[in-house]
Amino acid sequence: PSLTEMTEKALDILSRSTEDEAKGFFIMIEASRIDHASHANDAAAHIWDVVEYNRLIHSVMAWVDEHPDTAVVSAADHETGGITLPPGYDPRPVGRANHSLEFLVDLIDECEGDMDDKRAYLEAEILPQYGVDDATGEEIGALLDAEDVTAALAATLNERIGVEWSTTDHSAVDVVLYAYAAGEMKTRLLEDLAGTKENVQLPRYVAEALGVSLDEVTALLRGNGTV
Ligand SMILES: [Zn+2]
Repeated sequence: PSLTEMTEKALDILSRSTEDEAKGFFIMIEASRIDHASHANDAAAHIWDVVEYNRLIHSVMAWVDEHPDTAVVSAADHETGGITLPPGYDPRPVGRANHSLEFLVDLIDECEGDMDDKRAYLEAEILPQYGVDDATGEEIGALLDAEDVTAALAATLNERIGVEWSTTDHSAVDVVLYAYAAGEMKTRLLEDLAGTKENVQLPRYVAEALGVSLDEVTALLRGNGTV
């Protein structure tokens, strides 16, 4: 199932199991595949997972509209890849990619056969599925010789769309904080979360919105040997 489908199911179960109770629920939904794609500098998987996250957020916002005692906060714990879109960026080849680098590199690893078989397989099967249907002989040669096949395959698409990455790790840029609520929850959201925030302020907002004390909950968990 997609992340959106799993989220819709989880919200349905959680709201039904708490509907007759004074206590509500907290759910953390992680779109972690965006981070994985960025570690691989995989522009195609990155954009498709961002699109899926966008779909998920619209679904959650619709749910919040129907449940005005709920608030949703969308945050990232960091950016990954140091992605930049210089002048000339053209994302259209991404639309032709239908698999992630992770998936395609596994297929390459499984390919048995001699160099000619591998060359033909890359040209006819792998590269087109990554949105690259005009690979040069030089690019295919580089892929065949590559020690880091993920990086070599990533480069073929990144060069065509003009996207630049500065790292395969997490970066230190500020990340965007989004939040959504209706009614009274909305007023509190705006008061507590609008503007530039330190990341430690998010759990404080959540604790306040839920009416729990982080110190008490921490003591309880430690007392139970959970932490
Ligand atoms: Zn990461």
